[in-house]
Amino acid sequence: MSVRHLMRENIQNLEPYRCARDEAGEGLRIYLDANENYAPLVDCDGINRYPDSSNLCVRRAVESVFGFPSDMVCAGNGSDELIDILLRIFCTPAVDSILVFPPTYGEYSVLASINDVRVIECPLEKDFSINLDQALSLIRTHRPKLVFICSPNNPTGNLFDRDVILTIARENPAVTVVDQAYVDFAPQGALTPADVEANERLVILRTLSKAWALAGARIGFMLSSREIASKCYDVKYPYNIPLPSQREAVLALSGREDCEMRIRTIIASRKSLMERISRLAGVVEVLDSDANFFLVRFRNAGMVYSELKRRGIVVRDRSSNLHCEGCLRITVGSPQECDELVRALEEIL
Ligand code: PMP
Repeated sequence: MSVRHLMRENIQNLEPYRCARDEAGEGLRIYLDANENYAPLVDCDGINRYPDSSNLCVRRAVESVFGFPSDMVCAGNGSDELIDILLRIFCTPAVDSILVFPPTYGEYSVLASINDVRVIECPLEKDFSINLDQALSLIRTHRPKLVFICSPNNPTGNLFDRDVILTIARENPAVTVVDQAYVDFAPQGALTPADVEANERLVILRTLSKAWALAGARIGFMLSSREIASKCYDVKYPYNIPLPSQREAVLALSGREDCEMRIRTIIASRKSLMERISRLAGVVEVLDSDANFFLVRFRNAGMVYSELKRRGIVVRDRSSNLHCEGCLRITVGSPQECDELVRALEEIL
């Protein structure tokens, strides 16, 4: 089935909103089309104007840094927006389902529920790997419209085997979404435009919120077939990324070397923080990670969580997640923050 025919019928036939400026093209001088105020009240150049609805400057910057062709990219208000858009393009409420691999990023299920889309679960193995046979069997039985694979996975931190991911994407007759929010910390696991060219039902999500340190700007982007990318543009809000955020994204993406240096620093800090924590009494195990966070299994996670909170330190309690009993998820912070965390843990434990 072509990727177009996997889309909801109303979305296949959608007559999208178009801004006058997009239709008018190049060479414009005087903007009297969008009912804006002609003069800004605050000191931010161009803030009185709607931003470029096609996010072209962000897509061009993404192309130059990641080599993702700009017509295969859609930029979102965070990758969360893109997850929601994919659900709305492919899943008919109260009819369709998605497949997820718990424990994983909770927004896939929450956004599915908000869209009244059923969630099928394929639990990860105890070592946090995917059970390929079970995944393929659930896909055959339930025919989910979207399969979400998060690699490196949140909250477990591990990359999944590339062959397992690509086999699922090949065997799944619908769309497979590989969320690579943390892959900048493990570039060997990054899927590429060639992977997407080889399978038009494969979609890759990335974000500038993690390694690129722009969580506040809300920029995510998606690499997909041109057909899916262009449909995302038709479905998203016309002006989904604010002008200041588009500017910050272009600026951040012009500093690739700085970012790579920061990534190396974070990976080195992760190693040393994991070693220091693993030596503490009350720590059962520190789980390996390919991301900028890791899980620690404590003998008494509830007590550690509240004692850290009492000292003004917040971590993420993942102890209720499958195979994560007693686990807190810790983000690698600055060297000073890591020192403070270790000092607090020494006191508590
Ligand atoms: N995917 C994963 C796996 C995440 O952990 C997060 C944020 N925690 C997101 C997507 C959303 O990122 P954003 O919307 O900031 O791009």
